[in-house]
Amino acid sequence: MPRYEYRCRTCGDTFELSRPMAESAAPAACPAGHDDTVKLLSAVAVGGTSAAPAPSPSGGGGGCCGGGCCG
Ligand SMILES: [Zn+2]
Repeated sequence: MPRYEYRCRTCGDTFELSRPMAESAAPAACPAGHDDTVKLLSAVAVGGTSAAPAPSPSGGGGGCCGGGCCG
């Protein structure tokens, strides 16, 4: 059963409820008994930012050892 997160606008508390999807939009009273609650977006399937920055200098050529200043 999916879990939904709600926030009470009366006391500012956040709480989770496990309820069927059909009732996800139904009003949910906070643990303190307040009815003025809003459903938060669940952050279940968030993520996947896998960036692999690998800056490799392309060529360039050693100017020193190639120019004769090394020996
Ligand atoms: Zn409340």
